[in-house]
Amino acid sequence: MKRAIFKKFILIISLALFLSSSIFGVTISKIILDNRCKDLLYALKVADLSLDYNGDLNKQLNALKQIKNGNTSRFTIINMDGTVLADSEVSNPVIMENHIHREEIQEALKNGAGFSRRYSDTLNLSMLYVAYLSNNDNYILRIAEPFSGLEQYLGLLLPALVISIGITLLISSILANSFARSIAKPLREIAEEMTKLKDDKPEFHFNHYEFEEMNVIADTTMQMLHAVKESMNQIEFEKMIRQEFFSNASHELKTPITSISGYVELLENDMVTDEKLKKDFLSRIKKETTNMTNLINDILMISRLETKEVTVSMHDVRICPLLSDVCSTLNPLATECQVTLETNCKPLTIYANEGQIRELLNNLINNAIKYNKPGGKVFVTITSEGNDFIIIVEDTGVGIPEEAQARIFERFYRVDRGRSKKMGGTGLGLSIVKHVVNYYNGSIQLESQVMKGTKFTIRLPKKQGY
Ligand code: ADP
Repeated sequence: MKRAIFKKFILIISLALFLSSSIFGVTISKIILDNRCKDLLYALKVADLSLDYNGDLNKQLNALKQIKNGNTSRFTIINMDGTVLADSEVSNPVIMENHIHREEIQEALKNGAGFSRRYSDTLNLSMLYVAYLSNNDNYILRIAEPFSGLEQYLGLLLPALVISIGITLLISSILANSFARSIAKPLREIAEEMTKLKDDKPEFHFNHYEFEEMNVIADTTMQMLHAVKESMNQIEFEKMIRQEFFSNASHELKTPITSISGYVELLENDMVTDEKLKKDFLSRIKKETTNMTNLINDILMISRLETKEVTVSMHDVRICPLLSDVCSTLNPLATECQVTLETNCKPLTIYANEGQIRELLNNLINNAIKYNKPGGKVFVTITSEGNDFIIIVEDTGVGIPEEAQARIFERFYRVDRGRSKKMGGTGLGLSIVKHVVNYYNGSIQLESQVMKGTKFTIRLPKKQGY
């Protein structure tokens, strides 16, 4: 790039030098021609005044020629009809052809003076002819001189021109080189910084550059690099979480499968003869199967929520009938755990996906029953406050230790693993609750005291941006 900028710069400078030299050359040529014409015209005017037209013109012309430029100038006196009367170079002018059609003569007849530049084949020289209409109106005086215009001064001008072009090109090369460097260097540095993107903890650093535009590029690149690095880290993090999730999920599934295959093997080999034991094994198999089904359902639910399914069907859901439906499914569990369920529901309608809200209520109430004490209570309150729907699930259960409170929304995290498993917990319930709440841009508040109870307060904005 540096070389390309340099080359272009030099090309432009050369072009500019060529153009300016050409314009200069043409102008100077014109000035030289004008001056020479004026000079020769002046000589003709003086000659006109000094000539005795009744005397020997040839003799007088020769004398004039000596005064002017020695042998190089040629004087001619022409009649008004174009016949040559006298010529400083020809002793017998009668033999000379008629000059009436010569350009300078025509111009002199019209304007009083005229000039022409022609190449003389006889002399092998470029000549300048200047003609002047005599004051006594009967004659035209003409002077001719070899004239090569600018070429005449070339010997003088050329070295000066070569030196000035050389100096200009040298200075331009130095400037072009430093200009090209001042553009290429920041770009190279910016590109180098970009390669740091593959480092683990890159520290991007950009210098302050001479050109403001470069600083803008550097700043934008810096912001872009930070954003790209952040997304890369995010992707990496999500990849890690996903891997961890899959390994945890496989592990969770492995345990029930192992125990099921153990029971099946015992039953298959007729190793269990006692009918009561057989029934017990079968009911254990059933329980493990239910656990597995629950786990698979929860995994599917999480993956649906994470991919933010495009086809989530939303409609107005009447919250109270939904709550009673959830409670009636959980009633057998509540009875089994000797827990009383109490609800207080304001008849509200929420625009949401019914399945997701059902899942949210089910997981919270299920936990409130499961992690309760015999004779304990669960209170479910659904109300609204300002722009929020509020769902409160409160229990008088075992509570959650403070150090575990921040972690209970993590996948497969359980405070009491044994109890959770025994109650058919998958370790994904609260993670699903968190996903649903996030989907509706809501918030979760948790208050809990060990052996006293737990209170989950969920707020879902009515005007959701989903
Ligand atoms: P699980 O399937 O094990 O219930 P969750 O994700 O629903 O998984 O809950 C994570 C853990 O949080 C539970 O294992 C339990 O230890 C704790 N927990 C959840 N809700 C309550 C609650 N209401 N009272 C006490 N502990 C709870």
